Amino acid sequence: TPVVGVLALQGDVREHLATLPELGAEAVTVRRPGELAAVDALVVPGGESTTMTKLAARFGLLGPLRDAVAGGLPVYGSCAGMIMLADRLLDAPADQVTVGGLDVTVRRNAFGRQVDSFESQVEIDGVAGGPVHAVFIRAPWVEQAGEGVQVLGRVVGGPADGRIVAVRQGNLVATSFHPELTGDRRVHALFVDIVRRHLAEQAGVDAGNERG
Ligand code: GLN
Repeated sequence: TPVVGVLALQGDVREHLATLPELGAEAVTVRRPGELAAVDALVVPGGESTTMTKLAARFGLLGPLRDAVAGGLPVYGSCAGMIMLADRLLDAPADQVTVGGLDVTVRRNAFGRQVDSFESQVEIDGVAGGPVHAVFIRAPWVEQAGEGVQVLGRVVGGPADGRIVAVRQGNLVATSFHPELTGDRRVHALFVDIVRRHLAEQAGVDAGNERG
């Protein structure tokens, strides 16, 4: 059973903790480097990225998070989590740092200050069974994605038409929206699938090393 941590410094931690076991993963909270070291994957929830980053720094987690991402840990970031995974930010305080790892430029609160929340049907690459009902709450979008980044979904129609709201790069997945708030488990399922594949690959490498 894959053990998936949920970064539990701030934000909608509980919804992710409830969703993951429905997909056969064990969900645990992560607040300390030791807890991070014990998980097979991590979810960074929605919330307020500036606060989450400050808390991560205070808990001594920023360095370990960067190391974990560099080491191939699968991480899924929703909304504020997407911001945390971005290499570059727009409309962020000058001192806002990120964990990074995703070669994207993310604009915070991109859907407009007057539009606090917005809902749309978004087709996600790798998610079968029709579009995902996407709930955006003071959400970011991906303004620019590097060559190695797979665009999984874009808004269709309205003022945000064509904006990138779901991406993947290697073991990192990020969405602007909050599937954990809608009861639709398909995005989490996509992520848990990536986690299982990663674990299977690692097991293969370990077995090879033992034989070698
Ligand atoms: N606006 C928030 C931020 O900048 C993200 C909003 C969310 O996670 N729902 O961190």
